[in-house]
Amino acid sequence: MSLEEHLKKLITNNGPITIAQFMADSLTHPEHGYYQKQKPFGKEGDFTTSPEISQIFGELVGIWCASVWQQMGSPANISIVELGPGRGTLMKDFIRGTKHVNGFHKAMEIHMVEVSRQLQQVQQKNLKESHGNIHWHSDMTSLPAKTSIFIANEFFDALPIHQYEKTTKGWCEKLMDIADGKLAFTLASPISLPGEHKNAANGNTLEACPTAITIMQDISARIEMENGAALIIDYGYIGKVYKDTLQAVKNHKYHPILEDIGSADITAHVNFSELSKAATEYDVNICNTITQRDFLLALGIELRTQSLIKNANDKQKQQITSATERLINADEMGNLFKVLAITGKNLTTPAGF
Ligand code: SAH
Repeated sequence: MSLEEHLKKLITNNGPITIAQFMADSLTHPEHGYYQKQKPFGKEGDFTTSPEISQIFGELVGIWCASVWQQMGSPANISIVELGPGRGTLMKDFIRGTKHVNGFHKAMEIHMVEVSRQLQQVQQKNLKESHGNIHWHSDMTSLPAKTSIFIANEFFDALPIHQYEKTTKGWCEKLMDIADGKLAFTLASPISLPGEHKNAANGNTLEACPTAITIMQDISARIEMENGAALIIDYGYIGKVYKDTLQAVKNHKYHPILEDIGSADITAHVNFSELSKAATEYDVNICNTITQRDFLLALGIELRTQSLIKNANDKQKQQITSATERLINADEMGNLFKVLAITGKNLTTPAGF
């Protein structure tokens, strides 16, 4: 059965489904999900992420984590948790980039949270010789209760969102139904949403990601109890934005959402204000969300680029420079991508913020 057939069966049996259910099944259904079946990353895949663009990205994330660990007083045991690690490239560069940090590798226990069995295998292969203490989990429930630094790059954008559209009758949740034998969007009956949204214009879309909020609450609770930190990097926005950001990408191009379901990646922009807000319920430090450009510049991406170039031939020099530019240029990933950090109450502001 294809994913499309699976969704149609679900709708025929139970009625229209939410965008969140459509997204969850499209991406992570154990049999039909995109991440279970496809090869998402790199030139031959559908999209490219920062760690796949430049080794410097994972190296600097590693340096950031090592500096937070040092701020904690270099404890003998620290858990590094990566959520949604893709091919494991970030972690590979992280490990190589921090090998000279005194005592860090010995203290470090790595936990990879990956829902896709296929990607877990790819990660295991890519990290085979990197570090002796790496564990895999399909969700966060089996993570040990100990001091942890969480990393998530392009993880939150893959979490299922609900969409609501403002109509003359009020806010209506957007659903997926079948029309003329094909999957089609429809609207549910009006519901009431919190008063803060009362001034939205007709036609506006409001997005909500309850799974992201639950995960942020879980991370914040763990940081409150065990100390530690979290670094969340993704494309997204700050403040109230009434926009439909659901997007499908295939072969590095935007793709109609209802076409080739299951063989295109489906994501939504991340609402960083809501992520920060979820953490405010806990006794933790929440840093102001900054752009990826400012974060990477503050961590020394230019210096690292120069030092890589020193030992490179002309073609490599050009590749290294253009990869760095792609990560930090305002009109490429520099401004669209944002970085949020949360730390334990007793830590000072982390590097870059
Ligand atoms: N961080 C990687 C990959 C980003 S793609 C990079 O930057 O290259 C999103 C990743 O999150 C994939 O590894 C996908 O399988 C994983 N993922 C998506 N939803 C998940 C979930 N609910 N739980 C755990 N992993 C998930």
